Amino acid sequence: MATLGNPKNTIEVLQKYQFNFQKKFGQNFLIDTRILEEIIAASGVGSNDFVLEIGPGIGTMTQYLCEAAREVVAVEIDNNLIPILKDTLHAYDNVEVLNEDILKVDINKLAQEKNGGRPIKVVANLPYYITTPIIMGLFESHVPIDSITIMVQKEVADRMQVGPGTKDYGALSLAVQYYAKPEIVVNVPPSCFMPQPKVGSAVIRLTRHDKPPVDVRDEKLMFQIIRASFNQRRKTLANGLSNFPQLQLDKQQVTDCITALGVPATIRGEALTLEQFAQLSNIICDCRMASKG
Ligand code: SAM
Repeated sequence: MATLGNPKNTIEVLQKYQFNFQKKFGQNFLIDTRILEEIIAASGVGSNDFVLEIGPGIGTMTQYLCEAAREVVAVEIDNNLIPILKDTLHAYDNVEVLNEDILKVDINKLAQEKNGGRPIKVVANLPYYITTPIIMGLFESHVPIDSITIMVQKEVADRMQVGPGTKDYGALSLAVQYYAKPEIVVNVPPSCFMPQPKVGSAVIRLTRHDKPPVDVRDEKLMFQIIRASFNQRRKTLANGLSNFPQLQLDKQQVTDCITALGVPATIRGEALTLEQFAQLSNIICDCRMASKG
């Protein structure tokens, strides 16, 4: 039975191993059973599922996952947590702990070996300092993913969900929405963690689209355009894109492409929808082909 989701039992384990929290690893352990239960329910993990957990800490959520899933792999960077996990997870025979940096793990290979290449579920209370590289790594490396249910900083959860015309809208919103449907499950106050983070948190579920919601001929080009537009947020889209050398287009060509999209050349990138970025990247793709040929 899962035992760690309350302050008393967590403190007992921490004292037994004289564990010192490492700020550099973003260690804020969950101590609220209600939130743990909500995460497991929202993840939809069932007895046929293989789950990847990122950053198990002392194994609090891992225990819940082991009870719900067929098999769990938990990737933890901190050596000091490995003996603790051996202890707290000893009752479960369906879990493997890898003492590695998640950013260096070949998750495609893991999904192949553990789940025959079928879509996996990712569940985590993420280390906040690497939230974006973890999420983008999972999507961009085309790991077979069913869903990602994660605790992140509240502000980052908001950024993933919003559309044009808000200050939070940016490259992360567009990338997440291109690959998945984001839904905030619950907001989580600092008091649910030990030690308490300085920021509010939220659980968000990203359900992978079967097929992207827009037609893009060159995904890489679209994401270059998106990055270029938001790198220089205060500039017009035309200036942002003509200052971006990878696009290899002069200002006049950029202006023509933007006008062909049916919007004014003075528009800012933050006003475009995902659909419009997709169309613009297809127009730019044609323009580059025409100027090469
Ligand atoms: N899952 C636990 C819980 O909910 O109580 C701990 C969550 S804590 C926010 C983040 C965990 O990720 C820590 O255990 C930390 O050591 C681990 N971590 C940090 N950076 C990591 C990385 N690059 N690769 C794998 N784990 C990492």
